[in-house]
Amino acid sequence: MIDLVFLGPPGAGKGTYARKLKEILGIPHISTGDIFREAVAAGTELGRKVKHILESGELVPDEIVNEVVRERLSEPDCEKGFILDGYPRTVAQAEALDEMLKEMGRSLMWAILFDVPEDVVVQRISNRRVCPKCGRIYNLITNPPKEDNLCDECKVPLIQREDDKEEVVRRRYRVYMENTLPVVEYYEKKEKLQKIDGTAGLDTVIEEVLKLVNKD
Ligand code: AMP
Repeated sequence: MIDLVFLGPPGAGKGTYARKLKEILGIPHISTGDIFREAVAAGTELGRKVKHILESGELVPDEIVNEVVRERLSEPDCEKGFILDGYPRTVAQAEALDEMLKEMGRSLMWAILFDVPEDVVVQRISNRRVCPKCGRIYNLITNPPKEDNLCDECKVPLIQREDDKEEVVRRRYRVYMENTLPVVEYYEKKEKLQKIDGTAGLDTVIEEVLKLVNKD
């Protein structure tokens, strides 16, 4: 089973790599951020609970996130593996994930940290645009759409995520540093951590991940 966790600051490219690897490996890309944004857009009970938290850039409480992930991992498409993106973000979540996997009779293959310096992150996020229909991610500088501000697939205007605005980005970076570095240390101690240079370009990064996955 290819059970993976992707770690790295907002803007490290986790979402882009996970989408690509999902196609190659045939395992789902599970982004807790996407799940929450969809719940907010759909106006579900979960969405109403987390809307203000997402807008502020703070973290959703562990109990809520853990429950969402537990349900998602029990779905049949996770049988061969999964890529968790944006989870775990705290040590309590990492412990909860270990427990969940143990209950399911499986264990994490790797936690992969995509290393990217802060200035690169800020540049990437402020130029990031998303298709509101299919979720495809673009960068106005490094990965622009073919037609000005339109999704290549859906042809609808791209949007900037509310939490990609500069002020929120800075806050999310700070929150990431405070909360997620202990998660990196947690996996390091368990010898489950692998680091990949997140500035190396899409193809190189994908190759590196595939090497790790095939080696195990
Ligand atoms: P992301 O797209 O991963 O940056 O997530 C967007 C927002 O969703 C974050 O700023 C948090 O408010 C919330 N969120 C996503 N994943 C988690 C998580 N694992 N723990 C707590 N909050 C989360």
